[in-house]
This record gives sequence, structure tokens and C-alpha cells, in this order.
Amino acid sequence: MNVLVIGSGGREHALCWALAKSPLMGRLFCAPGNGGIAEVATCIDLDFRETDRVLALIRAEKIDFVVVGPEAPLVFGLVDKLTEKGIKVFGPTAAAAQLEGSKGFTKDLCARHDIPTAGYGRFHDKASALAYLEKQGLPIVIKADGLAAGKGVVIATTRDEAIEAVEDCFSGRFGSAGSEIVIEAFLDGEEASFFAIADGRHVVALGSAQDHKRVFDNDEGPNTGGMGAVAPSPLMTPAMVDEVMARIIRPTVAAMSAEGRPFKGVLYAGLMLTGTGPQLIEYNVRFGDPECQVLLMRMKSDLLPVLIAAADGVLDRLNIEWDSRPAVSVVLATNGYPGDLLPGGEIRGLDAAAAVPDVKVFHAATRAVGDHFVPVGGRVLNVTALGETITRAREIAYEAVGKIDWPGGFCRSDIALKAIVAAGE
Ligand code: ATP
Repeated sequence: MNVLVIGSGGREHALCWALAKSPLMGRLFCAPGNGGIAEVATCIDLDFRETDRVLALIRAEKIDFVVVGPEAPLVFGLVDKLTEKGIKVFGPTAAAAQLEGSKGFTKDLCARHDIPTAGYGRFHDKASALAYLEKQGLPIVIKADGLAAGKGVVIATTRDEAIEAVEDCFSGRFGSAGSEIVIEAFLDGEEASFFAIADGRHVVALGSAQDHKRVFDNDEGPNTGGMGAVAPSPLMTPAMVDEVMARIIRPTVAAMSAEGRPFKGVLYAGLMLTGTGPQLIEYNVRFGDPECQVLLMRMKSDLLPVLIAAADGVLDRLNIEWDSRPAVSVVLATNGYPGDLLPGGEIRGLDAAAAVPDVKVFHAATRAVGDHFVPVGGRVLNVTALGETITRAREIAYEAVGKIDWPGGFCRSDIALKAIVAAGE
């Protein structure tokens, strides 16, 4: 079977790496891919918005199955466009991707189907948003409705901050993503990410992970796409997983199906574990990045039949096997990230890092130049390791990081420390 993966990050490298191991795999393509992905797939420089070129590639290379990694092509409707042409695709339709594309849509769905989430209001204009704010307590959370790359959320602790956040959203700063806003109650608790895979009707748990969003140690500095991850999250006990599946994930898949938007793909729930049980903060409709890297590192089953079963609606026939060991991923980023990037220079030592047992170095943004790589973005490498405990996985990951010779990059030194404490290791 010939497969095309859409995307270019560390998540897509992990997907390609896992898919390339499948005995069912024929030729693997990735568009546009990156320097690391090129080691396991043929990379094609192609923008997903050029649907005609994507279709031409699929025909020319006799591609049987397409896997869409990032949210932008999903919300764009790439799955719909390919499905219309009879091509088998893994990922939600644009209508189902609204779970990520519109926070207001998801909040209303939760309200209609009794899925636990913070109380909220949805607003199209400043005056009614400000009037609603008057009646709410503090802290309060203000969110641009659409995709704003994690920058459209403000947790306001004073009324002035809340008013400023509302005005900021309606100022046009987030483009169409900010033409509507959601204001919701602040939830107090511990955060965890939970992943499941759905085929429209059936849904299977993929497990939990914890991200590290801030750029510097001790959760300091600005937000990023994610500086590291650990899986599973020690907060997600088997009882909590059951509760999340029963109260949040299964009801969502059933609700989407009942409302004529059956959800096929990865459902990634951002959760707040509160004193009164787990509450949904948000949905993403794809694997997280770098959470995908730690989840797939732990998957023992062949990924390709899992994704095909999801596309075909037969996930109930499948049993996914997992490595019992936890995984930790450390992100190496170009100096300056998430602000203006400084010159990245050369990356060397990747072979030595990859030679550390139980380590895989995923590339998020690199290009091969002769015998070395150069960075071509902010987050560049994801050094991912398995270990008997989180402590051990962390040690192994940092041992491999130590073998990488890249003065132009940096990483956090405290990835997984919180999880180690929470796990009581
Ligand atoms: P990202 O893409 O970074 O996940 P996003 O823009 O999709 O972010 P959310 O996930 O909804 O937005 O919110 C971002 C973060 O803000 C959450 O991870 C959480 O830390 C915090 N947050 C959001 N909603 C609430 C809430 N109701 N109570 C407390 N914290 C919240």
C-alpha cells in the first residue's frame, strides 16, 4: 500500500517513522516533509491548498491512503476534497474539524449533550460581551473563537484585564478567528491531555500525555507550540481514563454522529482535572506535537492498520498494544524561539544521539546539507526516549540530547520533572 502523509513537523516525522515500519507499507510519501522525514519517506514540496497538485501526486504515485497531520488542512477541508474523489483518508471532515476550528461550536455541542465543560457565553459583538463580563466573577477566561495558534486565550484576573482582552479580540488582531469570542468560567485543577481515535461510531483510547508549553524552565517565559512531553500523564489513572472515556470522549463521538458530523480521526482532549471530576477545556482534531512523538513511541501495534480501520469505520475489530514503559520527548529549538530566530548554524551529532538505546530523534524543522543538518524553523528536533520509569526515560532523553552538537539551539532542562513528582518516583 502506498501512503501519503501531509505535514512537515515532528508529529509527521513520528507518523512516517511508525508507518514506515509496517509490513503493509509500499512506498511512503510526505508533503512537504523535512530533512529527517526524508530518511523514511519521499518528500514532495507541495502545499495542501493546491488541491489539484495533491490529486495529481496521488494519481501519479498510485497512493492508496492519505494521512493528514496538522489542523490547518483539516479545517481547510482537505479530507472532504479527497474523499469526494474516492480517495481513502485518515482525518476528520471540515464539518467534524469544527471541534477544533470553533470553540463556540464545541461549547454548544457540550451544552446540548451534557458533556462537562466550564460555563460560558458566546459573543459576536463587544457590547454584549462586556455586558456579560459585568455579571461574572474572576478569574475569567476570554478566547477568540477560531484558530489562533494558542495565542487567542487570556486568563484575566482583574476586570480591566478582562475588558482589555475582549477589546483586543474584537480589534481584528486574530483576523476572522477573533470575530466571535467565548467567555468562560475559570476551572481550577491540574491539566492533562488525552487522546483517542474514532471511526465515526467507535472510539478507542490512545492514552494521555503532558505537554510543557512555556519556553523556559519552571514554566517561565512565553507560550510555545510545546517544549517537551511525557506519556502517560501520571494524573491519568486507569479510573480517570475510564471516567474521561465515559463522560467526555464517547458522548462527544456519539453527539457528532447524531448531529450528522461523524468524527473520524484523532480526538485530542485538553482536560482540567477538577475537584468535581474531569472537565473539557478544548478539543483538537489531530495528534498534538510533541505529544504524538511520545504516544507513538509507546505504540507496539502496527499504526497503519489502526489508521485504515478508523477510515473504514471498523475500529471495534482492533486491539492496540502498548509498551508499558513511559516516554519522554525533549524539544530542541533554535535560539530566539518563540521570538525572532537567531542564525541556527549547523546541527551535528545526530547519529550519536540516535545510537543511544531506546531513543528516537524526530526532526521537526531541518534540512539536510551535505553531512549535517541545518534548522529551518523554531522547534527543530524532538529527542524522544523510552525508559522503565519516567525518571529513566528522562535521563535517557537528556543523555541523547547531550550528544547533539548544536550551539545555535537550546532546550528546557526540566522536561518531565513535574510528572516524576506526580508519579511519586
Ligand atoms: P492551545 O492551542 O495552546 O492548546 P488554544 O488556543 O486552543 O490553546 P485552550 O486550550 O482553550 O486554547 O486554552 C489554552 C490554555 O488556557 C489551556 O491549556 C489552559 O491552560 C488555559 N485555559 C483555557 N480555558 C481555561 C479555563 N476555563 N479555566 C482555566 N484555564 C483555562
